[in-house]
Amino acid sequence: MFTARLIRLITGAAIAAWPIFMLAQSLPDVQVSAQARQIHERAIVIDTHGDTPQRLLFDKNFNIGTRNKLGHVDIPRMRDGGLDALFFSIWVPSDATGPPAVKRALDLIDSVREAVRTHPNDLMLATTAADVRRAAAEHKIAALMGMEGGHMIDDDLGLLRVYAALGVRYLTLTHFLNNNWADSATDKPAHNGLTAFGKDVVRELNRLGMIVDVSHIADKTFYDVLETTTAPVMASHSSSRAISNHVRNMTDDMMRALAKNGGLIMINYAAAFLSEEFRVASEKKGGNIVAMMAAMSKKCGGNEACTIMESERIQHEAMARGELPKVTWDKIVEHIDHAVKVAGVDHVGLGSDFDGATMPIGMEDVSKLPKITDALLKKGYSEQDIDKILGGNILRVMEQVEKLKSAR
Ligand SMILES: [Zn+2]
Repeated sequence: MFTARLIRLITGAAIAAWPIFMLAQSLPDVQVSAQARQIHERAIVIDTHGDTPQRLLFDKNFNIGTRNKLGHVDIPRMRDGGLDALFFSIWVPSDATGPPAVKRALDLIDSVREAVRTHPNDLMLATTAADVRRAAAEHKIAALMGMEGGHMIDDDLGLLRVYAALGVRYLTLTHFLNNNWADSATDKPAHNGLTAFGKDVVRELNRLGMIVDVSHIADKTFYDVLETTTAPVMASHSSSRAISNHVRNMTDDMMRALAKNGGLIMINYAAAFLSEEFRVASEKKGGNIVAMMAAMSKKCGGNEACTIMESERIQHEAMARGELPKVTWDKIVEHIDHAVKVAGVDHVGLGSDFDGATMPIGMEDVSKLPKITDALLKKGYSEQDIDKILGGNILRVMEQVEKLKSAR
């Protein structure tokens, strides 16, 4: 151990080497090559799903401007990880409906807007691809918003338009439960996919230039969306069902349908979505994801930041004790590579689920992102293709959706 450190010090890699030395006691880490770092820094790196607003709203001790020991995202660690843009998720649990869900959604939107207002040197509110590019040019992090769960529109297209005006750029049609107009992947089918009003929601999203997010919805809802939409759609945070047979993941057929639509699958880093062994073992232990989160939420008294961090802590301790199979970060790259093989390199990107899920070992937070670039480079991906996966593809889809809006 000491010799390896000494060699790295002598070769001039001291700064990169010493955090590795610290981590080496518990787990072997990967050194990111200079070339990978360069590619990563040059690229506009975009993540389409982070649940950090839960911390902004509920966690009184959380300051996004300082380095935190807990959670996955803050400004210093986004800087370390070279993240240029994040879609902050406006998420309200789907058992909350009506005015209370709307109020909570508005509070979350306000928390993101306030984080931007109080950190003007680091964050910039972004609603278009051009905004993201401008933020990157000014060395600021673009803060975008996506809304996770159609129940927050309270069956009202007017409310959807209000959210759009406040800066929300995508709508995930459902969360864990069905709503009045769309079936969820993790609930019993009630509508056979999308209802007539659900199709109106998709058309209104198209008209508003908002992206339709197909993560979380039932397979039938997914295909109904593709028949209805006139713009590219995305799965903002889903992985491959061929690798981990989770209903939240996309089948190969769905990935091909997304590619045909010009849309995207953005790979989710959640341990249960990455690894079949982990998924099976954790469901055996704690029930399905809906039951597990509901139990934890009750324990945390409805503080959803606590719900998410406690679930991760418990699962990581179980991995360390050998009670759950260990899931490591390189599974993320396996999912990216599979999606590229099935859908094509123009249709894949990053949708971490940071601050919303249990991360794999080695991807403890957003600062670890350059490892993905390094792994893709080692796999033989060209700089151009890596650039697309890191952010180029979502920028393209944003531009297409924005253009279709002005054409209407
Ligand atoms: Zn989600």
